Amino acid sequence: TYVVTEACIRCKFMDCVEVCPVDCFYEGENMLVINPSECIDCGVCEPECPAEAILPDTENGLEQWLELNAKYSAEW
Ligand code: SF4
Repeated sequence: TYVVTEACIRCKFMDCVEVCPVDCFYEGENMLVINPSECIDCGVCEPECPAEAILPDTENGLEQWLELNAKYSAEW
């Protein structure tokens, strides 16, 4: 799955939401999040993010963000 991280906070761009083929972006408290169980790992959103906030969860140190993405997207 892909994960939305810190750089998304207060970003006003929604380009990622528009390109996601499965509509798995949700609104968190002050940022967007990706629902990890809906994301199909296509990678289309990553280059669309002007803040470079979207990363694949294979990168190190994202546990905390992955948890937050799962939490906020589950509230919908
Ligand atoms: Fe949506 Fe693909 Fe990005 Fe996952 S990787 S959030 S499916 S655009």
